[in-house]
Amino acid sequence: MTARPDNCHDSCPPQRPGVTPEAASTSYLDATSAEVDAAVERAQKRQEGSGQAAEAAVPEHWERLRCEVEESGLAADIRHIVHDLHAHPETAFEEYRSQQVLCDLLERHGHDVVRGAYGVETAFSTSISSPGYEPGRHPRVVIMAEYDALPGIGHACGHNVIAAAGVGAFLAAARAIDAAGPVCIELQGTPAEEGHTGKEYMIRGGSLAGVDAALMIHGFGYDISEHVWVGRRSATVTFHGTAAHASSQPFMGKNALDAASLMYQGLGLHRQQMPPSDRLHAVIVEGGTRPSVVPDRAVVEVYARSLRTGTLLELSRRVDDIARGAALMAGVGVEIAWDPRPMSLPVRNNSALASRWSATQRRRGRAPLPAGIIPDTLAASTDFGNVSHLVPGIHPMVQVSPREVALHTEAFAHWSAAEAAERAALDSALGLAQVAFDYAADPQLRAAAHAEFAELGKVSVEGLLRSENSQ
Ligand SMILES: [Zn+2]
Ligand SMILES: [Zn+2]
Repeated sequence: MTARPDNCHDSCPPQRPGVTPEAASTSYLDATSAEVDAAVERAQKRQEGSGQAAEAAVPEHWERLRCEVEESGLAADIRHIVHDLHAHPETAFEEYRSQQVLCDLLERHGHDVVRGAYGVETAFSTSISSPGYEPGRHPRVVIMAEYDALPGIGHACGHNVIAAAGVGAFLAAARAIDAAGPVCIELQGTPAEEGHTGKEYMIRGGSLAGVDAALMIHGFGYDISEHVWVGRRSATVTFHGTAAHASSQPFMGKNALDAASLMYQGLGLHRQQMPPSDRLHAVIVEGGTRPSVVPDRAVVEVYARSLRTGTLLELSRRVDDIARGAALMAGVGVEIAWDPRPMSLPVRNNSALASRWSATQRRRGRAPLPAGIIPDTLAASTDFGNVSHLVPGIHPMVQVSPREVALHTEAFAHWSAAEAAERAALDSALGLAQVAFDYAADPQLRAAAHAEFAELGKVSVEGLLRSENSQ
């Protein structure tokens, strides 16, 4: 059973037999939880047995950063962000208050902040360089902080914890920067992740120019160093029919709602042929105005998701065919507009950086699971995918809730302000700062991270669409 927040029952509407839907089913999670638990235990034992306690590049750096987080008052700031943002959730591109809270705090700590950085009004940026740093010659590492919430259910994705971790990491790193090797560490406030692709807009505004690595965390029911995130595209499909009286002259009409309905069925049937990690979701957002008029306009919004960019584009082409076929059957016209907001790519986890992350977290009593333990059916999408295809990056999951609590639920929103969320933010702030310092001080880590990244090479969304359109 899904753990529910204590106060849930007060806000639940009264049950209406036959009308009120059943609560979300947990049977799949319940049925697989014993298998997942066993796999988690085996993975954790293997980690303990293999002595994977990778050491810090410079142990004094990690200890210095620990002192900064735990013993300098920063911990109180980090906890404050967790609760302040949670109490004032703001949705994509509306995060003005959250931006102000975070920027004001950074300014109180003596940092110059650029609000509206890289062309996104609710974004921000600040950076700090160590003595001797030369741009282009020495590493530049970005730590990313999200802070948008979901409509209606607030911080049900825990971005308040991401913000606290990112800002805390930057402040700890800034306090210890004199001790680091030559490096520039930048904090980017990256809004509008939910349902949007804020980071892609920032990339187009230059956010990754000269950047060598990007680091952020995300809350979840498990600690995972490398989790699967699928790529996502969206399309708006508009069917144009011909209106007519639905009773006296139905033969004169061309029914756009029929086309929308046929498309919906076509998507459903196509699911039989999709690999399990692909996803199609659609809603009919317009489908006529009254039953007595043959609808002359219907609009379907579709999301397509896939584990790889190539299969995502292939799935998009199938959606095109299904929409055109539905239009042909109903005898109506169709317009297909892909990417009303930019697509997000699957996350490419950098294993060299992820294993260093795991080392930082084991010192905090956590045991991040490697890739492949948590089934990739439990995968969503994030605009960090676009970042991770342009620079080596990590997006590890940090346990904020009990295992059985799902993201985007009221229960997860509850756990995002619990004591476990504070601990997650503190451990993550420290871990992100420690990985950034290791990246600066350890040429072998940098070489391993970039060799791994170079195997697949850079992929930009714009480049991908150019090559798709030229086919
Ligand atoms: Zn989310
Ligand atoms: Zn999220």
